[in-house]
Amino acid sequence: GPIVVWLRNDLRLDDNPALALAAETDRPVIPLVVLDEESDGIRPLGGAHKWWLHHSLEAFAHSLRGKGSELTLRRGKSANEVVDVVKQTGATALFFNRRYDEASRAIDDEVEAQLGEDVSVERFTANLLHDPEAVETTSGGYYKVYTPFWRKISEPGPRDPMDAPNGLKQPSNFPKSDELADWNLLPTKPDWSGGFDAMWTPGEKAAQKRFKTFCDDLLEDYHNGRERPFADETSRMSPHLRWGEISPYRLWHTARTYADRRKTIPDEAIKTFLQELVWRDFNYHLLFHFGALAEKNFNDRFDGFSWRSSKSELKAWQKGATGYPIVDAGMRQLWETGWMHNRVRMIVGSFLTRDLLIDWREGERWFWDTLVDGDIASNTAQWQWIGGAGADAQPFFRIFNPITQSQRFDKGGDYIRRFVPELKDMPDKHIHAPWEAGDDVLEKAGVKLGETYPKPMVDHGKARERALSAYDEVKG
Ligand code: FAD
Repeated sequence: GPIVVWLRNDLRLDDNPALALAAETDRPVIPLVVLDEESDGIRPLGGAHKWWLHHSLEAFAHSLRGKGSELTLRRGKSANEVVDVVKQTGATALFFNRRYDEASRAIDDEVEAQLGEDVSVERFTANLLHDPEAVETTSGGYYKVYTPFWRKISEPGPRDPMDAPNGLKQPSNFPKSDELADWNLLPTKPDWSGGFDAMWTPGEKAAQKRFKTFCDDLLEDYHNGRERPFADETSRMSPHLRWGEISPYRLWHTARTYADRRKTIPDEAIKTFLQELVWRDFNYHLLFHFGALAEKNFNDRFDGFSWRSSKSELKAWQKGATGYPIVDAGMRQLWETGWMHNRVRMIVGSFLTRDLLIDWREGERWFWDTLVDGDIASNTAQWQWIGGAGADAQPFFRIFNPITQSQRFDKGGDYIRRFVPELKDMPDKHIHAPWEAGDDVLEKAGVKLGETYPKPMVDHGKARERALSAYDEVKG
């Protein structure tokens, strides 16, 4: 009988074990995507996610057509929809690639249980370099610290990627499918997606093309380039990985091969890149072993911490109106393009949780709604870390100074000028802290603090002292 291949965060043909191994059987294959926002524990997609998913599904359906197949779309509870498609098509097998968060694992188990013994269910490892339960410390536990995790898995490295299937055999009938347009995933009123269109092309082909450009031109200096927020010098693979349009195995081996062949790529560049990829795996490792990562402090010392709550301050941060140019530039980049440079994510995260003492969960939720790469493991783990509640040996002292960070990483102010145009005529020297400039400088640049651009909402020095004394509550 036919095989239903249930695709989730793996919208690709290349290195897709569930799809490739189904194709190899020579049985008819039915590729299925279910939009499930109803099952228990599932986090509804954010607005930016939906925009990406729409385009990604369009691209994926197109690639499947090129292989002689058709994508079936269903919306509803996975347990209902997957079981329905299996029954309708008389499929005798269900293949899928593993997911790792608690809610998704529970759904996958439920689907398997509902299908009963006549349908064989096969699960594959596709989206992480290592299954989380396969990596153990010497005492048999899981890793809570990154460096030993990296040491454990970096040699000999992950398996080789698999090729895309040559073709997919059709069933006698494809099941009934929704129309993608009826899912209404794209924003209409207002349509905020112009900046997204300008920056991104979702889909597998675009991911491969961008990664080739990265390896050809940027990998060589990646270890330095990744610290320049204004420059386009990182891989920008994060949304493609989020939706599984490209495989981490493919990225690992392609980058390695480039580094082996091109002597101009220093060890430090390739090592830094592979380490970043492994951070993603590490965050999933934490999520798998600590299921409540999105809600509960990983470091339970923070359970008794009293976060401040201020709707208006949260809003000022979200809208990029804090009066700290680097923070505002980051928040506006996020709003405009659905993405933010890693260095700036840390700066804005520290500002929210330390300068404003607002709960990291608020930041996590905002990112989840606005990032195209908003990821169930990386977003939560990184927010925990920046807020002090995560896996960090120094939770109480990591307070970023938004002025010195800005001077160091956006020296010429290009990033600020791009996203905070009302400061574009400020001289380099004063663009990082306009309130410290003299009236004549401000006037010349056409800036009126409190009118054309906000005054700083807190004094960083005082906010830092406030945070340090607040931590006394929980330091113990
Ligand atoms: P590159 O520098 O080219 O790195 C290559 C890949 O390595 C990335 O695509 C990503 O998959 C992985 N990677 C790099 N840095 C990290 C990291 N610190 N943690 C985990 N994986 C990493 N990344 C997400 O993918 N989704 C998120 O929701 C997310 N939320 C974040 C929230 C905060 C507060 C912070 C500080 C970081 C967050 N990150 C998140 C990590 C990081 O900022 C992005 O992965 C990175 O900026 C993506 O750009 P890139 O693909 O060009 O990265």
